Amino acid sequence: MDWVIDHKLLKEDDGYRLILYLDKGLTEFSNEFTDGNYKQNIKEQIKKYITKNFPNLKIKGINIMVGSILIASLPFSSSVVKAQSTVSGSYNSREGIYTVESGDTLYKIANHFNTTVYKLKDVNKLSNDLIYVGQRLQIPRDNSYIVRKGDALYKIAYKYNITIKQLKLYNKLNNDIIYIGQKIYIPQNNTINTIEQLPHGIYNINSNGEHVKRIQNALNVLGYSLNEDGDYNEKTKTVILDFQTQYDGLINDGIYGPRTMEYLKRAILTDHIIVDNPSDIKVLINKDNSLPSNYKPENLVVPNIDFTFKEFHEKKLMRKDAAIALENLFRAGKKENINLYGLSGYRSYNRQKYIFTSKVMREGMKKANEFSAKPGESEHQTGLAMDVTSNSVGYGLSQYFGETREGKWLRENAHKHGFIIRYPEGKEDITGYKYEPWHIRYIGKEVSTEIKDNNITLEEYFYKNY
Ligand SMILES: [Zn+2]
Repeated sequence: MDWVIDHKLLKEDDGYRLILYLDKGLTEFSNEFTDGNYKQNIKEQIKKYITKNFPNLKIKGINIMVGSILIASLPFSSSVVKAQSTVSGSYNSREGIYTVESGDTLYKIANHFNTTVYKLKDVNKLSNDLIYVGQRLQIPRDNSYIVRKGDALYKIAYKYNITIKQLKLYNKLNNDIIYIGQKIYIPQNNTINTIEQLPHGIYNINSNGEHVKRIQNALNVLGYSLNEDGDYNEKTKTVILDFQTQYDGLINDGIYGPRTMEYLKRAILTDHIIVDNPSDIKVLINKDNSLPSNYKPENLVVPNIDFTFKEFHEKKLMRKDAAIALENLFRAGKKENINLYGLSGYRSYNRQKYIFTSKVMREGMKKANEFSAKPGESEHQTGLAMDVTSNSVGYGLSQYFGETREGKWLRENAHKHGFIIRYPEGKEDITGYKYEPWHIRYIGKEVSTEIKDNNITLEEYFYKNY
């Protein structure tokens, strides 16, 4: 086994995955690997390597890498890697259009593009599974891609018509190594268009035209609210200045130039990924993980609790599971003479956008984002969160709520009904938000109890680093 130059172990659920790095000179390796006898021979050698180096480790699978390219993944049980179905039609990646060739089925096409038959039919408005040669099918752009055998970052980047650098920034990857089963998030077309169209020149007060429009558009993607009128006015300059003050590497002059452009691109790509499980009760939404702008939860209902206001408003809504749990929580409080009131539950993307952009234009990005979420990054859009208040704080939202009888009771009892205090005191660096004793999030009893018992946040729960 002198062809192994390095190895790495990844912890998996009930064992380890061994990553073997081969000498880059072994270019023929991947070809030979398809040969059955050769493969058997290699497997025997790997077994010896494992027995020698990790005699007591339970290894469930092996990835073989040449440089950054994954050339094979071997299960260490008896199962064999499933052959990929192939399609023969042509795909235009810029348009996202696949042209059907004979022998294709929706199933094969879905499989090839890592999507589902359901999504294919939905996007193309197909009422049945019949397709014909020459038919042009829109391939839905997925939020994420699961790495398969033979994948490499450059292949995934090529497939989605973006650069490796963009893919790495978006996924916050420090190197090119990927492994089978890893989830790679894919930036949406409009995000890529926004950054690719940023002009290379220098623009300042009184500049105007199409290029300025594109700068304004990019700033709005970050959460600012400028008229995209192509006029580099005082307001645009103020926003550029506000953007620059967030980065040590930028001169704060309010002038757009190549350096500001680079930081803008980076800021947009690293701002957040769009989650692929928005309707999951256990979805994680924060400054790094955003909901799609068009996501609206199903089954929104008004919980039967006391609110601080009488009339109907969208913000009274919650998802049904959460609403029932909230009713139980408030009822349990009442029994102990704790009177809680709902103030704000569901918030649509557009209303969050209005709230956030008004704030950011008044106070600047840094300050606005301490308390308020960018559109898509608000947990209120999930329909699983509620801001709670009491008479003792004048039915408002104040950190003092945490000191009141009601606030203390909420902190000690919310988990019994599946809720967590989402932004606890002292965890600002982890959650990205200041202490909010009033904001509770439904996550289900099992998770809420684990979080409460360990005194952790949702982020720590997901990354299991506690
Ligand atoms: Zn809230």
